[in-house]
Amino acid sequence: MIVTEEIEITEIQHSKLPNIDFSNLPFGKVFSDHMFTALYKNGHWSELKITPFGKLEFSPALITLHYGQAIFEGMKAYRNDTSEVVLFRPEENSRRFNKSAARLCMPEIPEALFVEAVRKLVSLDRDWVPTTEQGSLYIRPHMFATDEFVGVHPSTEYMFCIFTCPSGPYFSRPVKVKIETEFTRAAAGGIGFSKAAANYAGALYPTKIAIDEGFDQVIWTDGAEHNYIEEAGTMNVFFRIGDELVTPLLGDTILDGITRKSVIQVAADLNIPVKQRRVSIVEIIEASIAGTLLEAFGSGTAATLSSIAEIGFEGKRYVLPSTIEVRSYIHAISTTLDKIKSGKIADTHHWIVKV
Ligand SMILES: *Cc1c(COP(=O)(O)O)cnc(C)c1O
Repeated sequence: MIVTEEIEITEIQHSKLPNIDFSNLPFGKVFSDHMFTALYKNGHWSELKITPFGKLEFSPALITLHYGQAIFEGMKAYRNDTSEVVLFRPEENSRRFNKSAARLCMPEIPEALFVEAVRKLVSLDRDWVPTTEQGSLYIRPHMFATDEFVGVHPSTEYMFCIFTCPSGPYFSRPVKVKIETEFTRAAAGGIGFSKAAANYAGALYPTKIAIDEGFDQVIWTDGAEHNYIEEAGTMNVFFRIGDELVTPLLGDTILDGITRKSVIQVAADLNIPVKQRRVSIVEIIEASIAGTLLEAFGSGTAATLSSIAEIGFEGKRYVLPSTIEVRSYIHAISTTLDKIKSGKIADTHHWIVKV
């Protein structure tokens, strides 16, 4: 399918920008001036529009509210060192969005339309991309079923919507995680690999319990035996054992993170040995006791890399080394990713797309 239709743009009368305090941005609560919407009807996408950010109106019979046909993406626009606005691997978000869509019986969106919609929207609201060091514009593409009919079958109509939120530096202090062996995020044959809204709904309760126990997040393990590590909250997870970086092998229960695949590539570029394989809980606990578990971190668009300070398992707490010298992999990899985004080093993998 090719994009034949133009995006119709209606600009806001009075920008909200002068009222925004960029030095104090709560994450995900401040919305830029415009949003993009498109409708899927009669087998194709039409009514491509950029309009002032605002409310949508639906009947309570909206099928999404009942059966959860909803997917999303999370991506960011950054300012490079010469103040140009850039995206990081947007075509990867488009591809993943379509994989999620296919699994939930939702229509795909042509990559050209997805990327063009993001670029046009970000371009129009480019003044919302923070100029502050480490600030970014968070971009939230999402799609949901819009039939207003209470029956369990795939909707015939859908809305594709994108809005953006300026966000400040994501100061992620090292987190405490709990290895979860009772609840399951994703089962084999399920929808864990897709960015389906439902995956998040199911994760809230176990996460709440972990937080009540003094942790920040859970480490998800396989649904069959709870012996193998899968992800850390809403991030992929890496462990440094000795000199080697390991991360669980992808499958249908693990989200194929764009940060994850970028970390694997950057690690290889930096001559850090990196392996994708099954990682058991026992292995991690034994490495921690033996003193060979040197680093652990989550990877995802929101925080990029988030250090793990402590791992809880069966009532015991395993503390990771905390000196900067030891955390050398996370430091080297995150610095390299930042430098690629800011243009300080060459973008040899062609990850950067100018808006
Ligand atoms: C979005 C997401 C990630 C991270 O993906 P990125 O593309 O790196 O942002 C990891 N795990 C889950 C469950 C996610 O939803």
